[in-house]
Amino acid sequence: MSKAPAFQNLYTTLPDHFFHRQGADTVPAPELIAVNDELAKFLEIDAEWLRSAAGLDMLSGKAFPDSADPIATVYAGFQFGNWNPQLGDGRALLIGEVIAQNQQRYDVQLKGSGRTPYSRGGDGKSPLGPVLREYLLSEAMHTLGVPTTRALAAVTTGEEVYRDSALPGAILTRVASSHIRVGTVQFFASRKDTDGLRALCDHVIERHYPDCRESDNPTQALLRNIIERQAKLIAKWQGLGFIHGVMNTDNMLLCGETVDYGPCAFMEAFDPATVFSSIDHGGRYAYGNQPHIGHWNLAGLAQALLPLLHDDEDEAVKIAQAEINSYPDLHVAAYQHVLTRKLGLSDYRDEDDALVTDLLELLKTERADFTLAFRRLYERAAGTSSVKTLWDFSPAFDSWLARWQTRFADSTQPESERIETMRTSNPLFIPRNHRVEEAIQAGNQGDFSVFHTLREVLREPFTDNPDNLDYARPAAPQEVVKQTFC
Ligand code: AMP
Ligand code: MG
Ligand code: MG
Repeated sequence: MSKAPAFQNLYTTLPDHFFHRQGADTVPAPELIAVNDELAKFLEIDAEWLRSAAGLDMLSGKAFPDSADPIATVYAGFQFGNWNPQLGDGRALLIGEVIAQNQQRYDVQLKGSGRTPYSRGGDGKSPLGPVLREYLLSEAMHTLGVPTTRALAAVTTGEEVYRDSALPGAILTRVASSHIRVGTVQFFASRKDTDGLRALCDHVIERHYPDCRESDNPTQALLRNIIERQAKLIAKWQGLGFIHGVMNTDNMLLCGETVDYGPCAFMEAFDPATVFSSIDHGGRYAYGNQPHIGHWNLAGLAQALLPLLHDDEDEAVKIAQAEINSYPDLHVAAYQHVLTRKLGLSDYRDEDDALVTDLLELLKTERADFTLAFRRLYERAAGTSSVKTLWDFSPAFDSWLARWQTRFADSTQPESERIETMRTSNPLFIPRNHRVEEAIQAGNQGDFSVFHTLREVLREPFTDNPDNLDYARPAAPQEVVKQTFC
């Protein structure tokens, strides 16, 4: 006998104005696309039950287990720098929380399950394409070692949703340590609801940063911890050529996981100005601007926390400023750590700045594929050559390679260890846009085999698998995907 998940809901113990209790829309003809067995196991959710009729009812929003307490949560946020005082789960529904194998609590949320009081003009639905993209990219990010929300399941709804054209509808079941955002804090702060702000921060500390309770100033400790996690997160994105695409403050989670895979993508030809969002005309969320935007968003968080940082406003500002000023150094340290691993070094020295800058400059002028260039560098260290047929360093890199070789040799850590670190820091397989697009196009025709095959390839991003080499290939000119959507 399969068994329904046991939800335990902590968020619904928060004050009433934090959320709205409600069900999902009933959809005409739900069908399962995928269940993530490995994640289900980790969450101690019975995958067999997810595949049952009752499971499909939950994944499509028709009916929930008795232990569930579905809600839409409220938040606010700065979207492209503009303040929006009232956002919220406009197309998402938090079914409830589960306790996983690691004894940590995780949100289980439907995305695309219908309108809520926070939908504004939207239909609350999700087209199939973005559901498949989020499934593939979030799971790939997890496998690549990046903190992220994950995909537990995806279903089609049998309903059409209208964007520029009629598209098949779908619902993603998303899992996060929590979906509490910088924008959630900003919602209560902007309303001068200090009790709400305190209740929220107590909840976040309890759930994500329990050590902060011991601090003389738990809110300051909380802020510091969130800043640290975001600095590391953004550095990891940079190391993989990942562009989030819509780093609004409502899309930044306090738990430090990547969230909201909309107009996101992995960059191919290296260029810091790269964007995939059709509405990001100024390049606010371009690849190279992400560290800066992270800082900007965290300054907004610090400001929202002022009432809890100190009773005296001037003192509170000083504390907030000190914490926010720590971000650039934290980020640089995290970024250097990422690069140290990618370049196979044992430590990062001042002189390595030039090595990194010159490499990135060459990658840009040569329009080199970011992923393959680093993978090829690993291969040169390891003495292997799979990538060579797809991409190799041109003579323009010769003098840089000689410098790197000298620097690589100058290390106390055994070479074999550093080569292994390079292997697991420089993936061969990433979710390339044209492959994701191909999976979406087939999915729109009812064929999910392309999606499933791609998902399988992405399970082993660091393994040299010559059979799958075509998945490591950058887009041919006619395959290039310039924009992605949510
Ligand atoms: P996003 O850009 O996906 O982070 O969404 C920004 C805000 O718009 C959030 O409050 C979402 O819940 C809401 N939203 C996005 N798409 C829809 C939709 N199709 N229907 C209703 N609300 C939406
Ligand atoms: Mg309520
Ligand atoms: Mg969002």
